[in-house]
Amino acid sequence: MSFIKENLEDVRKNIQIAAEKSGRRAEDITLVAVTKTHPVEMINEAIDLGVTDIGENKVQEIMSKYDYVKPVRWHLIGHLQTNKVKYIIDKVYMIHSVDSVKLMDEIERQAEKHGVETVRILIQVNIAEEESKFGIKVEETDELLRHASCLKHVKVCGLMTILPKFDSEFSNRLHFRDINNKFIDISKNKYDNITMKFLSMGMSGDYITAIEEGSNMVRVGTAIFGQRNYSAQN
Ligand SMILES: *Cc1c(COP(=O)(O)O)cnc(C)c1O
Repeated sequence: MSFIKENLEDVRKNIQIAAEKSGRRAEDITLVAVTKTHPVEMINEAIDLGVTDIGENKVQEIMSKYDYVKPVRWHLIGHLQTNKVKYIIDKVYMIHSVDSVKLMDEIERQAEKHGVETVRILIQVNIAEEESKFGIKVEETDELLRHASCLKHVKVCGLMTILPKFDSEFSNRLHFRDINNKFIDISKNKYDNITMKFLSMGMSGDYITAIEEGSNMVRVGTAIFGQRNYSAQN
């Protein structure tokens, strides 16, 4: 049995257990297999094994792999520069990393220009504030949501967060809980044009905790494909 198959079975099993622990079913959780740095052969193997959603963190990498990967939903999960929106606007299922009005406006503009009716986005919230360059503070979320509610093509579908790798499981759990509370608050607020459908949080090191604390979309790379070798790229 290939290691990808074995790893996927483990991850799916863990997702099921964590989902049940939090009163949900495995089907309620979307697994985004993070394929950055990995070759198209591995990605296609994962797709053959039932993976429906893949995540890449670089625009360039989506573009170079796009034509060679079997039909799948592409997620852009890394920082997106405004000048690169045009390259992926008609390729991705969802952009997880929207953290400014400026970026939203550019997505809106490019969607109009390329005839893309709807672009799903998540607002990237940075809860462990000092650690990360990207993402907005929790307090700034409402301002972005208000702005998004006036846009025609941009459709906010939820929140995304990345936690620092080296925090303890306990502190991660509290951070996940905070974001989930915000997610629930926003759901109750009923902004026009905004649904809180996806809460994208949890990576290889913390996806089980994240699901237990309310995540319904996990972005898992290493636990499926093994360690990444950045030096082998290009
Ligand atoms: C690389 C990456 C992941 C996956 O990380 P692993 O630890 O390999 O599971 C998840 N989210 C984002 C934004 C990433 O860049």
